[in-house]
Amino acid sequence: MKDTALYQAILGLLPPWAVDSVQVDKTTQRVTVTIVYESHLAIACPTCSKAVRKHDSRKRIWRHLDTCQFETYLEAEVPRADCPKHGIQTIPVPWASPGSRYSELFETKIIETLQFTSLHSVAKAFRLSWGAIDRIMKRAVLRGLARRSLNKVEDLLVDETAFCRGHDYVTVMSSRTGQVLAVADGKSEQSLATCYEVLPNIAKQQIRSVSMDMSQAFINATESFFGSRSKRLIAVDHFHVAKVLTKAVDDVRKQEANSLPTFLKRECHRTRYGWLKRNGNLAGRLRERINMLAKLMLNTGLSWALKEQARLIWYGSSIRRAKDQWLEWLALVKASGIKPLITAATTVKKHLPAILNAMRLKASNGLAEAINAKIQYMKLRAKGFRNKERFKTAILFYFGRLDMAFHHER
Ligand SMILES: [Zn+2]
Repeated sequence: MKDTALYQAILGLLPPWAVDSVQVDKTTQRVTVTIVYESHLAIACPTCSKAVRKHDSRKRIWRHLDTCQFETYLEAEVPRADCPKHGIQTIPVPWASPGSRYSELFETKIIETLQFTSLHSVAKAFRLSWGAIDRIMKRAVLRGLARRSLNKVEDLLVDETAFCRGHDYVTVMSSRTGQVLAVADGKSEQSLATCYEVLPNIAKQQIRSVSMDMSQAFINATESFFGSRSKRLIAVDHFHVAKVLTKAVDDVRKQEANSLPTFLKRECHRTRYGWLKRNGNLAGRLRERINMLAKLMLNTGLSWALKEQARLIWYGSSIRRAKDQWLEWLALVKASGIKPLITAATTVKKHLPAILNAMRLKASNGLAEAINAKIQYMKLRAKGFRNKERFKTAILFYFGRLDMAFHHER
């Protein structure tokens, strides 16, 4: 087999495309495969497919898979079609996506390697810049998004994840199967509205739940997108309730510790983490010390008991009785007169319908937390992202479960 015929076969070229020559440059360790367009016939306009006049041709170069360690490039004079209606346009080539400087086989190799190697290592191994890898990933994500159907999505999870430490976020919308469906800048009402835009009309009708934290911005976005149905959809998992109550108990403990004699103040400080735990998780000795302190720190003891009671309502009661039990709990908190706890209870009361929805729909925050952790781990392995666009692309690339392959109909 001649080398031109070999490359013709490897690249799967069909007339009028043909390999014209293969050159090996030993000093630069490069292989250059020159491809020609052998046709004197009119060419097709890329937009309307009508046979039109050839305007001219432009030389273009694509990086291809290495040939025995030699970086390999495809080179071709690509004709430009002159359509009276659509103007002058470069015709598509069968080995690469429009606008890409890499052959599809090369891009496929990068996409496959990225599945099990970090971005950082792929950049090194293939001598590619991060920008180049990002563009390959972006095209892969766009191919996948164009093919994706969201007609069967029923349960959504929305959460924010940090881009930079602590102060820059993206909003992530996922399905209950752990597939990331959309990512948007920030954690505002607009952020979630942008995520919702990917949902087709049919999904909008059949969504059963949207799990979230108690963010007003997310609630607003959900209300404007789902209208009156949102009342039955918004689900706030106990995880978020527990967070608010734990903080309240801690505030009560700090306040009350101030009025204790010094030696008890110290003991109170030493047991500070114990107060945040749930009863069953306390080791025997710590539980004894907390029980002793609880006798002296009545407000803290009571707050802690009420926090525990809220957890029991969540995990222990039937859905039918849950509402009454929450109302009873709210009344108890109010009667306690403990300010930080009352403030926390106001939040619980405000979100009670969403808390009951979560109980009814068995919505759990666990999966959102797991996705968040995976995203943060991916970020760590990539050694951070220079800009948010790249971060968003990578999230969809790794967790969007997209079909990113090149499907050949050409
Ligand atoms: Zn045209």
